[in-house]
Amino acid sequence: MKIRFWGVRGSIPTPLSSSQIQRKVSAVVQRIQASDLQTPETRENFLSSLPDNIFGTVGGNTTCLEVRLDDDNLIIFDAGSGISRLGNHLLHENDYIRNYYIFFTHFHWDHIQGLPFFSPQVFNPKCNLHLYSPVPEFREILSGQMRNPYFPITIDMFSKSVSYNVLKKHSIKIGNAEISWRRMKHPGGSYSYKIEENGKTMIFSTDTELQNTDFEKNSKNIKYYQNSDLIVLDSQYTLDEAIEKYDWGHSSYSLAVDFAAAWNINKLVLFHHEPLYDDNKMASIYKSANWYKKYQQNSDIQVILAREDLEIII
Ligand SMILES: [Zn+2]
Ligand SMILES: [Zn+2]
Repeated sequence: MKIRFWGVRGSIPTPLSSSQIQRKVSAVVQRIQASDLQTPETRENFLSSLPDNIFGTVGGNTTCLEVRLDDDNLIIFDAGSGISRLGNHLLHENDYIRNYYIFFTHFHWDHIQGLPFFSPQVFNPKCNLHLYSPVPEFREILSGQMRNPYFPITIDMFSKSVSYNVLKKHSIKIGNAEISWRRMKHPGGSYSYKIEENGKTMIFSTDTELQNTDFEKNSKNIKYYQNSDLIVLDSQYTLDEAIEKYDWGHSSYSLAVDFAAAWNINKLVLFHHEPLYDDNKMASIYKSANWYKKYQQNSDIQVILAREDLEIII
């Protein structure tokens, strides 16, 4: 399966500011040598040698992930502002994508605010949008952000081919893939999802405050976490913040590393970035997480920093 990130920020969309862009340009100018400018190749080499935090950004959109299954079925996790870019990107594929499977972790604004802008898919009767959540009244909750005076139209304007499916059993099948879920600690609750397809496993667990019980080697935890190929995990805080913001519903990047190591998970994607952190701070968190993982018994895990447009194939 292929995972693509369309929104990686927590809490609120966070566009780059003018001064942040100026600092990036300034950092490039300070690095450049006359020899870097001589030919198109030297210019390309120079640009590709720049670190991601200077020649790029983690991005400012809130949570949205696209997962393409091996059979090309399309699963989407959450409808933060990133889903608007995904919708536009998919426009040219509308002709053949008939089914969109959208799973909600929970209903804080940063995970639903993009849904009315997932257009024209939500308004196109040719597109079957299958919306999922374990929360029984989730249609009513989603409709809450689409009513006067907060929004000009109501959820009833969505096409009739949008369906609201309450998850009741332990798992469901989409094509060959099995999707299961579990409730995590977060204010009001949040659900983690796991996809297993053709022997590969990915877990999406955002807005999660990891607990001691999540580390316990009981049969339920072992079945859900052990030896997964990839986990996209809430790591909004530094360790200091996690102590200060106990009970706020997020985890530190160091605890995320502990967790991936404890469950022998191959790839850890740091996710739900703090809106106050710029690209330089994110780069230093990434560096610290890699330093910290060296002190784990299982130091083979690959730590990845989520950024918009990142694609990972497992
Ligand atoms: Zn969130
Ligand atoms: Zn939340």
